[in-house]
Amino acid sequence: MPLKLYNTLTRKKEVFKPIKDKEVGIYGCGPTVYWYQHIGNMRRYVFEDILIRTLQFNDYKVKHIINITDVGHLTSDADEGEDKMVKAIKREGLPLTKDSMLKIAQKYEEVFKEDLEKLNILEPDAWPHATKYVKEMIEMVKVMEKKGFAYESESAVYFDVSKFKNYHKLAKLKLSDLKAGARVKVDEEKKNPQDFVLWFKGVGKHKNHLMLWDSPWGKGFPGWHIECSAMSMKHLGEQFDIHTGGVDHISVHHTNEIAQTESVTGKSPWVKYWMHSNHLTLKEGKMSKSGGNIMTLSDLVKKDFSPMELRYLCLFTHYRKKLVFDLENLKSAQQTYQRLKNIISELSDDGKHHRRTPKRCKNLYEAPKNFREKFLQGANKKYLKEFETAMNDDLNTPKALQVLWKLVRDDKAEGKLQTIKKMDEVFGLKLLEKVEIKIPKEVQKLVDEREKVRKKKDWKNADDLRDEIKEKGFIVEDVGNGSKVRGI
Ligand code: AMP
Ligand code: ZN
Repeated sequence: MPLKLYNTLTRKKEVFKPIKDKEVGIYGCGPTVYWYQHIGNMRRYVFEDILIRTLQFNDYKVKHIINITDVGHLTSDADEGEDKMVKAIKREGLPLTKDSMLKIAQKYEEVFKEDLEKLNILEPDAWPHATKYVKEMIEMVKVMEKKGFAYESESAVYFDVSKFKNYHKLAKLKLSDLKAGARVKVDEEKKNPQDFVLWFKGVGKHKNHLMLWDSPWGKGFPGWHIECSAMSMKHLGEQFDIHTGGVDHISVHHTNEIAQTESVTGKSPWVKYWMHSNHLTLKEGKMSKSGGNIMTLSDLVKKDFSPMELRYLCLFTHYRKKLVFDLENLKSAQQTYQRLKNIISELSDDGKHHRRTPKRCKNLYEAPKNFREKFLQGANKKYLKEFETAMNDDLNTPKALQVLWKLVRDDKAEGKLQTIKKMDEVFGLKLLEKVEIKIPKEVQKLVDEREKVRKKKDWKNADDLRDEIKEKGFIVEDVGNGSKVRGI
């Protein structure tokens, strides 16, 4: 089954055909490093990771870029409000200096990357930082100005959306549908309400901005949208295969990225496939920093959940659907994941041609092709095919997990471990990694209590405690003089 991906540009699932034969360039909009990234943000990177791994599963060589925004993103995506980095400095009570800005950026970038690693998200090939590409951004704005797509006003250089044919081709809106002020405030300086900032001048409210660069329009700093256009082109060329982001990026950020880039290069489409993941929401609405209802990976770990359990929960919902999060559904993902790992840990090595991935390779994809072919001889072709069908149908992870469960429960299936290993190259759930199960404190207390009553041969209480432990999702087994605990 060929790989099919849903393309926001056409609103269709399309057979994936990269620009170059077996190579794929992907750019994902990265975080603005002014605060912790919450688990909603993490869902978006888990989606992107699954996409990369599925492309690799289909034998594509992937070049993957995620940027770090460390300047130019205002509190509103439509160029209004304060610079998010400046806001963070004030929040943390630091002096308003460039040094503080760098410190904040470094701190939150580190936490972000640590969280990605904990979630077993593969590192991209490069992490470009916006502040290092200002020269390229200025060059692009100069070209737009020369070609008549940009105009200078008192406080900024704007992109003139009326000059760009089909400005709403991604969002599928018509300019006439958008009344002035519906999406952005009316601004006297703008020719059209949807015009957006390419370059902020260091004047007026931005006079004391902490990072200003020399430019043909005086000292200033770049707008947020131009950053992604410049960084992605620098790394992936004037046209590339896939651009990702969250659904909230469609109508403003990505729409503007397309307008800028295509007006500079004159080449269309700039990006062949646009892919967007849906939000993680709470019952009361979207999780967001501005909504003040965020939860981070560390918050969950403090509550005794593991990053892999969150990853499992993410895969359980298709990336284009909303994921309604609460601790109850995370709890059930935890139990299901632990049960799965337990079953897998008890499987014997039945692969006829079992081979380990060479030590020098991070994963199977880095191993030589002939190794991979031999490796697969031991896998179960029927299940692998079913798995491929699910994943190649626009990354249908819930279906692929069903296939995995069917395999582990099939007593007659051969090559289970090989097949699971191959599937887990895509799931990234560390299914074959032996990990000590973490026993919650409350369960450990019950186990210790049971040990005591058992020593007194108080079997009735010992059995009651065993039931209580079971209700909490663990099984206690008596071994020799002590007991062993495992997840259900
Ligand atoms: P932000 O922190 O709002 O700048 O968002 C950073 C990235 O995370 C963007 O790609 C957003 O689309 C994505 N994102 C933000 N909030 C959520 C959420 N609640 N669920 C899923 N993705 C989100
Ligand atoms: Zn972007």
